[in-house]
Amino acid sequence: MSDFTFLCSNCDAPLAEFLEKPGELESRKIKAMCPHCGDSSFTKDIKNKFYIGATEYTAIESLEEKDGVFIIKTTKGKKYE
Ligand SMILES: [Zn+2]
Repeated sequence: MSDFTFLCSNCDAPLAEFLEKPGELESRKIKAMCPHCGDSSFTKDIKNKFYIGATEYTAIESLEEKDGVFIIKTTKGKKYE
């Protein structure tokens, strides 16, 4: 898997950049919340460690882990419409 951008599954806003870095994690899942419509991205399966970056439309607020799923919480950047 390579780098990608999380898009909201509802409104298509770019939510976060996912950048792989060396080092394996136990197999996990990750998704990003959408600050524009309250929905979220689809859940991705990941195996490597990673960096999360902001997009033009979001800032990263926090990264939480719940039941083996990383949840990226975001706040609004530029208005997405
Ligand atoms: Zn959305």
